[in-house]
Formats: sequence, C-alpha cells, structure tokens
Amino acid sequence: MPFEQTPPKLGNQYEDDRVLRSYLARVLPAEMLREIEGSLFEMGRLAGGELYDLQLADRLNEPRLTQWDAWGNRIDKIEVTPLWRVAERIAVEHGVVAVAYEQKHGSLSRVHQCALAYLFTPSTDIYSCPLAMTDGAARTLLGSGNQALIDRAVHNLITRDPNQFWTAGQWMTELTGGSDVGLTESVARQDESGEFRLYGRKWFTSAISAQMALTLARPEGNPPGGRGLALFYIETRDEQGRQRNIEVNRLKDKLGTRKVPTAELTLTGTPAQLVKGTTDGVRNITPLLNITRLWNGISAVALMRRGVALASDYARKRVAFGAPLSEKPLHMDTLAGMEAEAEAAFHFAFYVAELTGRSETGEISDSDALLLRLLTPVMKLTTAKQAVVVASEALESFGGAGYVEDTGLPVLLRDSQVLPIWEGTTNVLALDTLRALNEDSLAAFRSAVTTLAGSVPSSLDHATSWYTRISDGSVLEAGARRLAMTLGRTMELALLLNHANSTQDAQSLSNARRFAASGIDLIID
Ligand SMILES: Cc1cc2nc3c(=O)[nH]c(=O)nc-3n(C[C@H](O)[C@H](O)[C@H](O)COP(=O)(O)OP(=O)(O)OC[C@H]3O[C@@H](n4cnc5c(N)ncnc54)[C@H](O)[C@@H]3O)c2cc1C
Repeated sequence: MPFEQTPPKLGNQYEDDRVLRSYLARVLPAEMLREIEGSLFEMGRLAGGELYDLQLADRLNEPRLTQWDAWGNRIDKIEVTPLWRVAERIAVEHGVVAVAYEQKHGSLSRVHQCALAYLFTPSTDIYSCPLAMTDGAARTLLGSGNQALIDRAVHNLITRDPNQFWTAGQWMTELTGGSDVGLTESVARQDESGEFRLYGRKWFTSAISAQMALTLARPEGNPPGGRGLALFYIETRDEQGRQRNIEVNRLKDKLGTRKVPTAELTLTGTPAQLVKGTTDGVRNITPLLNITRLWNGISAVALMRRGVALASDYARKRVAFGAPLSEKPLHMDTLAGMEAEAEAAFHFAFYVAELTGRSETGEISDSDALLLRLLTPVMKLTTAKQAVVVASEALESFGGAGYVEDTGLPVLLRDSQVLPIWEGTTNVLALDTLRALNEDSLAAFRSAVTTLAGSVPSSLDHATSWYTRISDGSVLEAGARRLAMTLGRTMELALLLNHANSTQDAQSLSNARRFAASGIDLIID
C-alpha cells in the first residue's frame, strides 16, 4: 500500500477546549454555566462539523460585485459566498451579537457572547468582521441618546430573527489616512429640506453588504481636525433596494479576509443623519472602536486556538522517523510554545470582555474603568501580534502541507495578518496606550496585576520606572510599542498565573512557567 497522509480533524470545539471550559467554570456562577452550556456545545459542534466542512468546501468562492445590470442601470450588487450566508443565519439564530444585549446574565452576558464568538469565528472566514461592527454600532447608538435612531436600527442589529437582521458598516478610513482620521475629506452638506447629504470617498469599507453604516464627515463650515468631524448614520439602500447615492467602485484584492467584501466607495450625496451633535465625530465613534477591538482580540485567540487544535491533532497522525510527531520531544515543545501564547492571550481577551460587560451594566468601579480604557488598546495590539506568530508556527507544524492551499491551512495566516492592521495598527494603539496612561491608570494596572499574580512582576517594575523616568516626548513615543507590549505580556502572565493557581490546572501551570520565560519585558533602556 502506498503511504497516505491523514488530514487533521476537528471535534466539538467546545468540548475539546480545555482552556475555555476551565475558564468558564472559574468565572461563571455554576447555575449560569448550566444554563448556557447547551448553546456552547451546539456552537462547538457546528464549528467543528457543519461549518468547518462548509468552510473547506467554500474555499475558492469569493464575494462578487456586479456594478451594472443588463439594461445599463448601476446596481452595485454584492453577493457573498455560501459560507457567509450560512454563517449569518447561524450567528443570528444563536445570538452571537444578541446575547450581549439580552443581558440575561447581567454583565457576564458579554463573556457568554464572546465565548460564542470565539467558537464561531475560525470556521467562518472572518464573518466576525460584520458581527463586530454590528455589535459596535448597536452599542454606539444605544449610548448616543439619539432615540429616533435607536428605535430605527437597534432592534434589527440585535435580533435573533434572520429575516430582520441588519449588519452595520464602519466607514472611517479615507485615502488621506486610516490612522489620522482627522484628515477626513468627506463633507456633509444640508439640502433644501435640511437633510444632510454626504460627499466623499471611503477607501476601506468592509462587509459592504451591510444595511446601515456609521461614518465620519465634516459638516460644511466646520473646522479641520477630528473635532470638526461629525458622526453620521447611513442606510445604504432605499425601499427598492437601490444604493442611496453610494457608488461601489471596486472590491479590494486582499492578502486575506477574502470572504469579506471590502470596497472603495464614493458617496455622491448619500442621505445621512447626525448621531450625536455636529462635531466630535472621532470621540463619538469610540464606543464602536472599543467593541471592535474586543472582537479583534477574541478573533485573535480564536484563530490561535484553531491553529493549535489542528496542529495537535495532526501531530498524533503524522509519522516521521519511526514515530508520530506527538512522540517527538522537539515537535511537542514547539506546540507547547504555541499553546502557552494562545492561553495567555485567551485570558487577556476574556478579561477585557469581563470588564466591558461590567462597564455596560454600570457595575464597574472607577479604577476598573480606567483599567478598561488602558487595557483595550493594549489587549488588541498584544493578541493581534501573537496571532500572526502562532498562525505562522501552526502552518510550519504541518510541513509542506501547511503551505498548500487546498488543505485549508494557509488562510489561518492570511486572516491573522489583518488583526494587527485594522481597528488601529500596533503603533497607533501603542500611542493610544500612552494617552490612556497616567498615575491613576498605572496604579489600577499595578494593583490588578499584583492581585492576580500574587506579587509584582519585574517586567512591571521595569516598565513603570522607564515610563516615569522618560521626560523626552520623542523617546517616549519611540518606545511606546515596547512599553505597550510589555504591559500586555505582563498582564497576560498575571492572568495566566491567576487561572493556574485558582484551578490548579497542571497544563495552565506549565503554560504559565513557559510563558514567563518567553519574553515579557521588552523595554530597552
Ligand atoms: C482588510 C481590511 C479591511 C478594512 N476595513 C475597514 C473598514 O471597514 N472601515 C474602515 O474604516 N477601515 C477599514 N480598513 C482600514 C484600516 O483600518 C486602515 O488600513 C488602518 O487603520 C491603517 O490606516 P492606513 O491604511 O491609512 O495606514 P496609515 O495610517 O497610513 O499607516 C501606515 C503605517 O504608519 C504607521 N503610523 C501611522 N501613524 C503613526 C504614528 N503617529 N506613529 C507611528 N506610526 C504611525 C501605522 O502603524 C502603519 O504601520 C480595513 C483595512 C483592511 C486591511
């Protein structure tokens, strides 16, 4: 018989996930876990079965843009692939956005929702992107105090009925810059009836099949910069399904996230409504960014977990030099390194989910609110970088198969690579970390880490002394990424130690020891 390679298989992604299960058992009241466990089993079953099979079968499909119909009418129709159509239905029916708003379990509903998103994401080729923006739009509208828009849209964003469901877009990036959005060139002009109409070009607009979007434009006469921008609500199509003065110029040809239709748009007088005042658009869209950054972290840990799950299964099947790879000490050491990074990142992303939940229900203390402000960018930038490293290692653990498209493996690396870019690049978030850092937030961070870890890690002392010592603004800026990463990895170590000590899980203890030795302190004096 010729030798054949055995492909990796996935089981129930909830049942097989030691980290998720032991984390939920630790943080959720037993009764809540009993109530929600059915939903997690079901999502784990879909993610390891039907959805994963469909993902592999859908590999060569891509979203399509049809700009014109046969009769010369501009239609700009977007069709997503079969995987995404199924993913949308499953997400809506299982409440992957809704659970966070139904709040059946108060602030911990955010943890439940993130657990669902974490299980769902890796089998859906980043359907998490439209869900993240939908969740963020619902949170932003609810916090805006704009009752007319809340009544108009929020129900559709958080429904469990696929026929009523809307997704939302987040249209910020223009040619002038995705980071420096204060340079936004789109203008808002009032027509004779007083209605605002938007004119401009949006350079990256993902999930363009959305029914609504939140976007930035400068009302005519407003000053330059972020302050002069206003946050607007747009509905993308009219009752007949025609684009409302929006031209879809083309879909981007991207390295990854290829199922996500990301378009370049021209707004040619798009009707729009102010969400909250005629200025301060950048500030007013922040609630959306906080939610999409949380989703980014959850997606990062979800993709890492998928890489580890596939690589671990394959190691038991692939024989080299007379034994399965799972019996080769060096291969297992490599997988253990991936697992330690993934578990550390997992606890960080879910810790931010816990804090986010408490802030949404108004149960957060002042010091934890400062901590959440600081940790959101730190968590996003830290976990996104880890995802790229772990995905790359996951591909290598398959040898040549990891580089071959029809194994379905390369997509892990391509999709991970977007995580440090969108929702704020690593540098942009490192600078945001500097803005969030002050005596009080640093004290909150220090107290949280000390309580979790049981002592003050040397990396925290080093980061604190560097930060307080540096008075030259440009030196501080140059070191901002190292500082943010050091804070991120320090927090991860503290969370991992806390989990290992509270659960006495031998694997978590071993991961904590390994993680502690894998570069926590990145500060250069
Ligand atoms: C697949 C995909 C989908 C996207 N979807 C959307 C979407 O739906 N909506 C949307 O609004 N945007 C979207 N974006 C855009 C994305 O958010 C931006 O690309 C990102 O914010 C970076 O902006 P930019 O491309 O203009 O790069 P730039 O802002 O030009 O940045 C270039 C480089 O400069 C660095 N940099 C910038 N400023 C500083 C500084 N002060 N100090 C140090 N370094 C700095 C950045 O870190 C980066 O490495 C998407 C992008 C991708 C790749």
